Amino acid sequence: MTITPVRDDCIFCRIVAGTARSHPVWEDPDTLAFMDLAPLATGHVLVIPKPHWENVFETPAPALGAVMDTVKRVAHAIRTTIAPPGLGVYQVNGRAAGQTVFHYHVHLIPRHGGVSLDLHGRRRADRDELDRVASLIRSGLDAPGG
Ligand code: AMP
Ligand code: ZN
Repeated sequence: MTITPVRDDCIFCRIVAGTARSHPVWEDPDTLAFMDLAPLATGHVLVIPKPHWENVFETPAPALGAVMDTVKRVAHAIRTTIAPPGLGVYQVNGRAAGQTVFHYHVHLIPRHGGVSLDLHGRRRADRDELDRVASLIRSGLDAPGG
């Protein structure tokens, strides 16, 4: 995997470089997992690729795969140790989606029910409309792995 330069203005790059403090859970050559500084629940972990890519669009597929390997490993560890009744795996891209740190990352958030993260719609959609949108999205698909 190509390692892009560390960006001094990026807090997650600084964590990778060891110049900012973190609370690591897992490290391998491609990824890092560490505790979220403002956890939404006990055991809230972030998983990042070590190189700086801003979002899912910029991050190469093999790097996303490496992040998912770490997500699975840490998810098992959270289940074994904290045993929450549910575990959310979340990821957002762009300010409008709520992204605040612009180095790709995946949240693992233990969930205890009751509190909505507002990721679910309240109304069921029209099925013809869903067909139309699905077909629209399919028309934009490239070859896998792009
Ligand atoms: P997002 O809204 O998906 O961009 O989330 C960014 C997350 O990074 C938030 O949950 C922050 O609490 C977390 N965060 C920001 N700075 C740090 C840091 N220095 N160490 C650990 N987590 C951080
Ligand atoms: Zn970065």
